[in-house]
Amino acid sequence: MAEGVLAQMAAEGRLGEGWRQRVSQGQDPVPLPRILDLLFNTTPHYLARPTGPEEVSELVRFAATQRLPIVPRGAGSWSAGGAIPVSGGMVIQTDRMASVEIDKEGMTATAGAGAPMAELQKAAQAQGLQAAPQPLYRPRSTLGGFLASGGLGAGSLKYGPLARQVAECQAVLPGGEPLTGDSGVASLISGSEGMLGVLTRATLRLHPKAEETRPVTFTFRRLEEAAEALVRIHKTPLQPLYVSLGGPSHYHWLLQDKGEFQGAIHVAVMLEGPRGRLAREEAEVKRAAGPRASPGSSELALREQKALGAPLHVPADRRGPGTYTFFVREHLVPLDRIAAFAGGLQTLGRRMRLHTGYTGISVDPGTLLVQSYHVIDTRRIFSTLLSLGYPKRASDLALELGGRPLGFGLWGTGMLEKLHGEMADPLADAKAMALGPTILRVKQDGAVEATRKLKKALDPQGHMNPGKVTELWLSPMGLLPIKLPALAMNLLMETMATGRRLMPQEKFTNE
Ligand SMILES: Cc1cc2nc3c(=O)[nH]c(=O)nc-3n(C[C@H](O)[C@H](O)[C@H](O)COP(=O)(O)OP(=O)(O)OC[C@H]3O[C@@H](n4cnc5c(N)ncnc54)[C@H](O)[C@@H]3O)c2cc1C
Repeated sequence: MAEGVLAQMAAEGRLGEGWRQRVSQGQDPVPLPRILDLLFNTTPHYLARPTGPEEVSELVRFAATQRLPIVPRGAGSWSAGGAIPVSGGMVIQTDRMASVEIDKEGMTATAGAGAPMAELQKAAQAQGLQAAPQPLYRPRSTLGGFLASGGLGAGSLKYGPLARQVAECQAVLPGGEPLTGDSGVASLISGSEGMLGVLTRATLRLHPKAEETRPVTFTFRRLEEAAEALVRIHKTPLQPLYVSLGGPSHYHWLLQDKGEFQGAIHVAVMLEGPRGRLAREEAEVKRAAGPRASPGSSELALREQKALGAPLHVPADRRGPGTYTFFVREHLVPLDRIAAFAGGLQTLGRRMRLHTGYTGISVDPGTLLVQSYHVIDTRRIFSTLLSLGYPKRASDLALELGGRPLGFGLWGTGMLEKLHGEMADPLADAKAMALGPTILRVKQDGAVEATRKLKKALDPQGHMNPGKVTELWLSPMGLLPIKLPALAMNLLMETMATGRRLMPQEKFTNE
């Protein structure tokens, strides 16, 4: 197919055209019913596994000349369809760019975009340091994938989003040009979902590893009481690593806990720092939690902390009589609207006859990153397909309450137009999406316009991860891609949601 670098890659088996290896790259944790291949061409023409920025540049240039769509892909752990092709093309998988080097004196980690965040953290901790934030429930999640999908996670409350930790980063733009920059470039990539370029390498600032981390846990009988306590806790001057909120069935799903805490709302405040200070902070958190808080289980909170670094679907995704999996969607929700959001999710789940759950962590003092999920037996293809309407309705609810989906991917292509808020400058909007407490204030026209303008300026051919975020592409029966308006995606998802309400209650065979 090509000469020079690309021929070398092909000879080494790092540029594949074989169907078998390519087809696995057309999937993410939400196994798409194959019937959707009638609409989307999720099997790439090429699977490339470059070892560095030079090879990425060559690949991107080659794809541009061939007018092939390019899909950057890390661990493929994001379930919004961001890392799967919609009209074939070339998947650039970053797993061969996974080196991690720690500079103990300089307190930095320099890593390839394909380095799993968990590996980076392990290497940092071995040197008495730590990287923050960390993604939740996705142990294989890569540095590049985490940054490109927003970089908000456990530790953002204290340290900010991942982009703020970037001292230097390298990316390859849609024309194949390399770009090196600081946290400004990182915030451009942050949340861009592989639409603006391929991140190849970054240097992250690290922090001293805390002497101790201590969970302070509470349970509440009513959601509203938990929500009020959350607001009070976030008004204290304390800086916990994160504060988490677990819905009544979350510990059942996550930890398979059927004990005394079943049905309660859980709040865990993860404090970190020197031992002497933690006792004082613990007392202050308890005061802020208020009289309606009952003590929770530290043991469960520690198990939850451990689980944050493990795949969310492990307990349920058994092969056997009941093959079921978690469909997860992340939303940013204003802290003071969390009771309405969580209550709304429960009502939605009941109406759509699904088993649902949610968990959330605060990523700044006014915003909760909520993972809402439904659990479904993926062997029931029709039911699985219709259940995709649930995350759509959950995103609508987040938008109604002043929040938004954390990312758009393929399944959220109809959502961008609905953003709201009060900011004037489109570039400030784009930055606000990545940085700090203004995350939620994004003006409707500004955000859409800013995203499209940026995309047009950097990728005039529109071949970097097309068919996602701002536009929906279909390739019916693998034919030429057709662009559909966002409205079409919304209609499709609405129809699924309505259809799902007519289905019987989801039941698991090993329940
Ligand atoms: C249960 C669950 C919990 C999650 N929790 C969080 C969370 O707390 N915070 C959070 O931010 N996300 C979260 N996510 C979303 C996602 O899993 C993470 O963002 C994860 O870090 C993605 O990493 P990945 O390597 O698997 O990326 P992938 O799934 O491979 O890709 C994700 C997106 O990034 C793009 N991309 C990948 N690599 C690059 C690159 N090198 N350059 C440019 N673009 C690239 C892809 O095209 C795609 O659009 C969660 C997802 C699930 C299912």
